[in-house]
Amino acid sequence: MSEAQQPPRDRLLERLARSPALDLVVIGGGATGLGVALDAAARGLAVALVEAEDFAKGTSSRATKLAHGGVRYLAQGNVALVREALRERANLLRNAPHLVQPLSFVLPLYGARGRWLDSWFYGAGLILYDLLAGGGRLGRTEFLGRAAALQRAPGLRPDDLAGGLQYRDGQFDDARLAVALARTAIARGALVVNHCAAIGLTHRDGKVGGVLVEDRASGRQHTLAASCVVNAAGVWVDAVRRMDRAGRSELLAPSQGVHLVVDRAFLPSRSAVLVPKTRDGRVLFAVPWLGKTILGTTDTPRADLPLEPEPFQEEIEFILGESARILARAPTRADVRSVWVGMRPLVRPPNEDPGDTKALSREHAVLVERSGLVTVTGGKWTTYRAMAEDVLAHCMAGGLLPSRPAGATVALPLAGAPQTSTHALSEAPGLHLYGTEAPLVQSLPGAERELAPGFSEAMVRFAARYEYARSVEDVLARRSRLLFLDARLAAEVAPRVAALLEEELGEGFDAARSLREFTQLAARYASVE
Ligand SMILES: Cc1cc2nc3c(=O)[nH]c(=O)nc-3n(C[C@H](O)[C@H](O)[C@H](O)COP(=O)(O)OP(=O)(O)OC[C@H]3O[C@@H](n4cnc5c(N)ncnc54)[C@H](O)[C@@H]3O)c2cc1C
Repeated sequence: MSEAQQPPRDRLLERLARSPALDLVVIGGGATGLGVALDAAARGLAVALVEAEDFAKGTSSRATKLAHGGVRYLAQGNVALVREALRERANLLRNAPHLVQPLSFVLPLYGARGRWLDSWFYGAGLILYDLLAGGGRLGRTEFLGRAAALQRAPGLRPDDLAGGLQYRDGQFDDARLAVALARTAIARGALVVNHCAAIGLTHRDGKVGGVLVEDRASGRQHTLAASCVVNAAGVWVDAVRRMDRAGRSELLAPSQGVHLVVDRAFLPSRSAVLVPKTRDGRVLFAVPWLGKTILGTTDTPRADLPLEPEPFQEEIEFILGESARILARAPTRADVRSVWVGMRPLVRPPNEDPGDTKALSREHAVLVERSGLVTVTGGKWTTYRAMAEDVLAHCMAGGLLPSRPAGATVALPLAGAPQTSTHALSEAPGLHLYGTEAPLVQSLPGAERELAPGFSEAMVRFAARYEYARSVEDVLARRSRLLFLDARLAAEVAPRVAALLEEELGEGFDAARSLREFTQLAARYASVE
């Protein structure tokens, strides 16, 4: 990787400050905004993206980690949506095989109802799911007897188990994929900067003409002129819409989803488990991921929009209670290694807003305001690329961007993508997550010194030099995923990470403050009391 391809953050900021009028400025560096920036850069447009915190600090690091078509949308009859997501699943598997991989799922069937009614109902649905994937199908749905279900998913509760269904879907490392998107966009010429917030919009004749941004490290402000501004601020899109016009009605009605992480011993299986109908009619997953098991999620409406939402006690009870119904060894609060919460951007019915709302769909929404501000929100991680194409189509149709053909990212490998991957993402983390860049990681000092299993000192240096990490949290939450896997262990290694970052980032880095902030955060992730 050359310096020209991977300019450091300071260089990107300098270029941002000096840049002449851009085609596009994107606000928000989650899956949605990064997807838009990459697609626009791949089509040769002049693009900048600002992310107020870190890439994927919002919802995009807190997913259930499934690259999937969404079996449950089939039950709602939304076939087009499922088909699109399955197409995108295939694109992801091809373009980032180090970070997105196929995974088997077992749907356990209990009791007489499971043996007969559920077996045929869910079996038919999963066969349709396979068919909708067309050429991107990952395998056939299989009907399993009791013994086969227990063999494919050891750890399932055996009493009353009638059998199961096995199907194939995908899983991914969400935060690392976001960083890969950012780096791929930068390599294509986009000015993508984290820890840099949009704090205002500029207007000319009632039309949005630019964005006022502030570098969080230096406090320096710049105005970026652009013919098109895309608001991809996740659950925070309404705050940006109010920068455009005060008093705007709310587009979103968010809800939160909690995940608990426990040891692999609770599901010592290579397959994930899907509970298609919890006691309150939702789906619940137990997913083997980076050597641990993720249990979740919930769907609880929430009026405020904190960056670090706390779980509600009922949500923890719910996940533990539902897990106890399918796992032979039921996890307790004491077994939880980490708890994290993501905010879901759910779109309200559009009739209250005077903008062009006809483009609002059930899944994601693209809204072109009269001022020309383009807001995109909703959808899911898996479909970020299709969403980006939809956003750019709206911008081009509205005359905000010059027309360029779509499809530039369909077969565009992301940073570090190898031809194929030899290690399962469900297993413990390690060098394989770096794909073709593993030798570069190994060439850095500290390659042999592990701070935690599969996490070396060299990886901290790589995060600072090439992955735009600026804090202990950036490293331990989103370059390594240790905070999400084992919050106590993450707190233990944090002092060493802070010391390494001090060496890498130099004087501007306040190691004591970064460590203090991370230690407080890790205590919250470690606690389910
Ligand atoms: C619990 C849960 C589980 C999920 N599981 C899955 C799954 O398994 N598979 C799947 O495909 N999808 C899943 N999703 C959906 C998926 O995670 C989201 O659709 C996606 O991450 C949303 O990305 P985003 O970029 O729109 O929002 P975000 O990731 O929240 O990004 C918005 C960004 O904007 C930044 N920002 C805000 N204001 C400003 C500003 N003024 N200036 C600059 N930056 C700003 C924020 O810091 C943030 O990083 C899940 C969602 C939830 C809630």
